[in-house]
Amino acid sequence: MPFAKLGLSDPITSALNKLGYTEPSPIQAKAIPVALSGKNIIAAAQTGTGKTASFILPILERFKAGQKVRGKRVKALVLAPTRELVVQVEQNIKLYSQNLSINSMVMYGGVDSKQQKQRLIEGIDILVATPGRLLDMYTQRAVNFDELEVLVLDEADRMLDMGFIEDINRIIELLPDDRQNMLFSATLSNQVRALAKSAMKKPVQISV
Ligand code: AMP
Repeated sequence: MPFAKLGLSDPITSALNKLGYTEPSPIQAKAIPVALSGKNIIAAAQTGTGKTASFILPILERFKAGQKVRGKRVKALVLAPTRELVVQVEQNIKLYSQNLSINSMVMYGGVDSKQQKQRLIEGIDILVATPGRLLDMYTQRAVNFDELEVLVLDEADRMLDMGFIEDINRIIELLPDDRQNMLFSATLSNQVRALAKSAMKKPVQISV
């Protein structure tokens, strides 16, 4: 089955062709149509299944002709547990959005925040961040969630294992209620389900 059948349009499918992706992986085939419909998702998927494209591609489709944001505003927020994963997710965004005009950015702790603040001033389509540094930046009024449309919690079980639950819950409280939510996790433990419950209403559950 080609990617176009899932509802993705030409600038995106041609980028995937160029990368040699001939067909969607099972998680992509299940999650992408649901995500494109704007519904909330809770998905059980390990690393290596193609889960990253499952949430990035629908976000790109949503933003492909969108109005640019300005002044510290962020349209989609991806929270991930580690700097390594944040960087990896953003590399994928860059690859898949090569035919689009999408402004993405990484944010993580342990480095000077000056450059990150500078970048935020432009307005960001997709911010990929670790929870602690993001809260830090919010407290310093460096980031604005007024126009946020999408929240992704990637590797939710690892974020919980690393003790990010309070930070994540605080971040969720800062976001507009009217948004799409997607949670991806290797396991759907009771704690992960509890997090999903506090983040979103009526998610479609997807597993492969
Ligand atoms: P992930 O599970 O998101 O970490 O993805 C695992 C790897 O599979 C990444 O290197 C992706 O670039 C690659 N990948 C994702 N989707 C596809 C696909 N449909 N066809 C071929 N490779 C893919």
